[in-house]
Amino acid sequence: MNLILLHPEDFISPERARLRDRRAGHIRTVHRAAPGEQLRVGLLNGHIGTAEVTALDDEQVELEVSFTDARQPPSALPLKLVLALPRPKMLKRIIQHATAMGAKEIYLVNAYRVEKSYWQTPWLEAEKLREQWLLGLEQAVDTVMPRIELRKRFKPFVEDELPGIIAGTEALVAHPVSAGPCPVDVQHPVTLAVGPEGGFIPYEVEKLQQQGFAPVHLGPRILRVETALPVLLSRLYPGR
Ligand code: SAH
Repeated sequence: MNLILLHPEDFISPERARLRDRRAGHIRTVHRAAPGEQLRVGLLNGHIGTAEVTALDDEQVELEVSFTDARQPPSALPLKLVLALPRPKMLKRIIQHATAMGAKEIYLVNAYRVEKSYWQTPWLEAEKLREQWLLGLEQAVDTVMPRIELRKRFKPFVEDELPGIIAGTEALVAHPVSAGPCPVDVQHPVTLAVGPEGGFIPYEVEKLQQQGFAPVHLGPRILRVETALPVLLSRLYPGR
């Protein structure tokens, strides 16, 4: 974890935080911090600052937090991500990666080739998703929580909700066999739809096209979703 992310409930006084959970374990075993050591901390949805370890034992770590040289978290990607629900193991990683890369608005949607059982996974519970996006934020030294929405019905989502979501954005659907290459270094907001492991079926691509989505490809190789996503984002927004 490249950033210790602090929540309001961690504070025992305005400048002192006490951690007992995974973060305390990480500070002890990975940072191998001793009292006096400085760590980078961030406030959830707030600034990035520093903290001095003032005390630590097997149970807890105490920090004295300072935001005198505070800086802002990196800017978010101007991106809305529409992602066919991946299988649970992938879901965890993809939420981490997408969050680490700066996605702040993610719609997990159904598609024909999404297995129904994927919607039953406990990893979709808000608390479990939170664990994953926190790991993404800590990895990327970001503090701003993403919004993750679940949409179990493809057609009403596409017909009723997507028009509002894509307004003011360039709408793209990543589709291996499409005519046009994915644009590079766009300067405007994008809504990007990424399919399930089996791909979107032609009906779904047509539905998205009717709403104004342009299908784009990444070359002749078919990539796993977890690979395609970072490739797509770094093409669209290199250097962000
Ligand atoms: N079996 C499917 C491939 C699915 S890959 C097929 O043959 O169509 C899973 C998803 O990753 C795709 O729906 C797409 O959104 C994205 N993807 C993977 N490789 C891609 C590529 N070369 N170009 C564009 N999108 C790609």
